[in-house]
Amino acid sequence: MTEIRTIIEKQRAFYNSGQTKDVSYRIKQLKILKHAIEENEEKILQALHEDLRKSPYEAYLTEVGIVLDEIGYMVKKVQKWSRPKRVGTPIYHFPAASYIYPEPYGISLIISPWNYPFQLAVAPLAAAMAAGNCAVIKPSEFSVNTSQVLAELFDVYFDPVYISVITGDADVSTALLAEKFDYIFFTGSPAVGKIVMTAAAEYLTPVTLELGGKSPCIIDQDANIEIAAKRIVSGKFINAGQTCIAPDYLMVHQSVKEPLVDRMIHYIQKFYGTLPTESPDYPKIINQKHFNRLLGLTKDATIMCGGAADSEQQIIAPTLLSDVDDDHPSMQEEIFGPVLPVMEFDNLSDAISRINGRPRPLALYMFSNNQSSIDAVLKNVSFGGGCINDTLIHFATPNLPFGGVGNSGMGGYHGKFGFDTFSHLKSVMRNTVRFDFPFRYPTFYKFLKLLKLVLR
Ligand code: NAD
Repeated sequence: MTEIRTIIEKQRAFYNSGQTKDVSYRIKQLKILKHAIEENEEKILQALHEDLRKSPYEAYLTEVGIVLDEIGYMVKKVQKWSRPKRVGTPIYHFPAASYIYPEPYGISLIISPWNYPFQLAVAPLAAAMAAGNCAVIKPSEFSVNTSQVLAELFDVYFDPVYISVITGDADVSTALLAEKFDYIFFTGSPAVGKIVMTAAAEYLTPVTLELGGKSPCIIDQDANIEIAAKRIVSGKFINAGQTCIAPDYLMVHQSVKEPLVDRMIHYIQKFYGTLPTESPDYPKIINQKHFNRLLGLTKDATIMCGGAADSEQQIIAPTLLSDVDDDHPSMQEEIFGPVLPVMEFDNLSDAISRINGRPRPLALYMFSNNQSSIDAVLKNVSFGGGCINDTLIHFATPNLPFGGVGNSGMGGYHGKFGFDTFSHLKSVMRNTVRFDFPFRYPTFYKFLKLLKLVLR
């Protein structure tokens, strides 16, 4: 597409002008971004309601507020992060000094999904801007209203030679991926992640892949059941379960399954009322295809709670499934909706083996008061990130890198990790010319024994 190519060429010319390398330019632009979001908060919240029926509170908590906080953090820290950093130098290089210069990659492509359509487009963008990149954003075609607001907002507040939003479906994404970018940051499914990585290979473009998968939640026999129930319900059913790090399935010790389910049902009703399909605080499913897919996952299982659905509004009540084994449809794919299979275990090592029999998850949650059980899980299970005695909150801090491992992705961001993701760390050693030791030159090659005393 010539339009896409023109945008990228213009961005490249702008990037080559060097303006984005100036840290004060980046800070100014980040402040403009913050101001643009604040000025358009109502529009953004409205769009999120239209796309996913998010309540203003939930939308502010998980999309707008979290992004404003991240941008504010970047504004405070970017000066420090972008300074060249002096690091140690081995004695055999004396008197040279070593430095790391963070430099922007150049033009970055950010492809985002529909479930947190504002946050997952703008948070990576803030990191890209802080690191001094230009960016093209391709938001999801399914969150139409938010994508439209993003396009309008960037059109008004930013020059497309610096930041450009290109809306459209997978074909537009494919056309973008055919062009040469200097960095690609993709958030979405593992299947599309593979397509993105294959396209990136053509130009050897570095990628971050923020993918999904089935994130387990273990509830040990001595867990605090009241707190576990409350935090699992809130973590699972926020955004009607359409959260990449939502608990995807529960592995609960058989001795505490009954009280846990009991308290979860209590909290589902407390948070969303007895008719969640009518609660103003409960989001809808993004489209009819996902709505039908999710209802299909509840078949051939015992529904302990929920199951009700309103097809006109595309709302599915929080649903707890029992009598589910590893072969049940709900255990064959990432659920990504308000359906939660509850499976039991007797022995923690069996639960660990079952989790390890699946691809490495994006998140893992464990509710337990037993340190050796917690240690066993942390030592033996590989996962992107997670929480002990909570759900989701590891996402909401700039001090922890957020990302997956294996099938759930590669690379990470948030806070300084985002800045580093969009920066190439250029290594530079500076030496003196005032004197010159002979050790490295062929005239010294006869002293191998001496070399072995130094390099070993
Ligand atoms: P998706 O992979 O279908 O789409 C993501 C983006 O890729 C969209 O912008 C879409 O237009 C584009 N796309 C789709 N098909 C493409 C193709 N063939 N070639 C190029 N681009 C293409 O994902 P989705 O349905 O929007 O989101 C759901 C998935 O995203 C889930 O797996 C979820 O776990 C994951 N996710 C991960 C994170 C995270 O931070 N790790 C966050 C949110 C969602």
